[in-house]
Order: sequence, then structure tokens, then C-alpha cells
Amino acid sequence: MANRGEEVWQAKAACRGPHSVVFFPPSRAERKDERMARERSAKEICRTCPVVKSCLDYAVRIREANGIWGGLNEAERKQIVERGVAGPRAAASA
Ligand code: SF4
Repeated sequence: MANRGEEVWQAKAACRGPHSVVFFPPSRAERKDERMARERSAKEICRTCPVVKSCLDYAVRIREANGIWGGLNEAERKQIVERGVAGPRAAASA
């Protein structure tokens, strides 16, 4: 996700711009179906992103707790951390 941290790869992020709002939950309560639709939209953007591997590696490395990063949501990244695996296979399986 662009605009977070100082990583060089973020300059090439497909999520830069106004549509970046779908990468994080809104400040109000979000129903499950709304969350699923929002995450689907974010993941579609991630699938076009040239820096998906760097993004996912970064999010896993810093244990980012919120949002869609590298095509994965929080729970999906947590599974990677628990398995001790990160990289292109993890992103491709999302
Ligand atoms: S992989 Fe997704 S969250 Fe990460 S920089 Fe690309 S579009 Fe943004």
C-alpha cells in the first residue's frame, strides 16, 4: 500500500491515488459483505501491481496488522507469518 513508510517500491504501487481507500476498513462499522467486497476490490488492484512481492514481503516483515498488502488481508498474512513463509508463492495463492 502506497504512502506508508519509506520503501522505494512504493513509488510503483498500483494503489496510489484515490482508490487507495479500499485497502483499509472504514472508520464506521463494516458489515461482513461490505468488507468482502472492499477486499475483493483491493485485491483486484493488487493483481495488476508490479511490486506485489515487495509489498507483501514488507508487510510480513513489519508485521503490518491492518489492511490489504501484497494482495493479502490481515488474516492471510498472519498465516504466512505463522508458517514462516513469504514470497511470490504466497502472493500467487491469494
Ligand atoms: S500489492 Fe497491492 S497493496 Fe501492495 S503496493 Fe501493490 S496495489 Fe498496493
